Amino acid sequence: MIPELGALALAAAGGAAWAVRGRSAQVFAPSIWHGNRERRAVALTFDDGPSAGTGDILEALHGVGARATFFQCGLNVERHPEWAQAVSAAGHEVGNHTWSHRRLDFASREVMRGELGQAQSILTEVHGTAPRWFRAPFGVRWIGLGEAQGQLGLMGAMWTCMGRDWKLPAGAVAKRVMDRAENGAIVCLHDGRGVLEGADVRETVAAVRRITRELKAEGWEMVRLSDFV
Ligand SMILES: [Zn+2]
Repeated sequence: MIPELGALALAAAGGAAWAVRGRSAQVFAPSIWHGNRERRAVALTFDDGPSAGTGDILEALHGVGARATFFQCGLNVERHPEWAQAVSAAGHEVGNHTWSHRRLDFASREVMRGELGQAQSILTEVHGTAPRWFRAPFGVRWIGLGEAQGQLGLMGAMWTCMGRDWKLPAGAVAKRVMDRAENGAIVCLHDGRGVLEGADVRETVAAVRRITRELKAEGWEMVRLSDFV
C-alpha cells in the first residue's frame, strides 16, 4: 500500500474506534463523562448488577454516608428483583445497562431498541421510577443508539476512571481509584460480571470498603450522578 494511504486508513480506523469507545465521544449518542469540576465530589458507579455481592457494597456505602449510581442489567434484575430493589431503597440512583449486556456495535436499531427498552421497563417496574442514565456495555456506542436513548429519555454516562475490578486485586483497584480522585470524577466499578449468574465480586467489595473509607477520610463527597451533573 502507498504509505500515505496506509496512514490515512489508520487515522480513519482510529477515528472510528474513538467514536465507538472514546469516553468524551458524542458521535453516536449524547453522553457525559465527568461531573461538576468545581465541587469536591466523586460519583461511584457500579455496573452489571445486581448480584449476591450488591448487599455488601450497599453496606460499605452506608457506613460512610455515601450515595452512588448502579447501572443494572434487565436480565439480572429479572433474576433477583429483591437485590435490585435494595439499591433504590437505600437511596441510590439506578441506571439502564441494557437487558443482556450485549455489545451494541453492529447491532440493528431494532435490537438496540429491545435491549434498552426491555431493561427500562423492568427497572421502572422494580424501582417505581424510570432511570434517566444509560451506560453502554463495554462503553461501546453505535449508529442508532442516540435515537434509542432519546426515545426513553436516557442520557449516556461514561467515566473518568475505570476501576478494572474484574481483573485486578482489591488493593490495586483501590489505588487506581484513589490516584484518580478529582473534582467531578466518575468512577466505574462492577457489582456483577455481565449477566453471569453467581458472579464473584469479592475483590470489588474489598476494594469498595477501602475506597469509601479513604475518600471519606480525604474529605470527598460521594454522590449520585444526578446530584452533580
Ligand atoms: Zn457492563
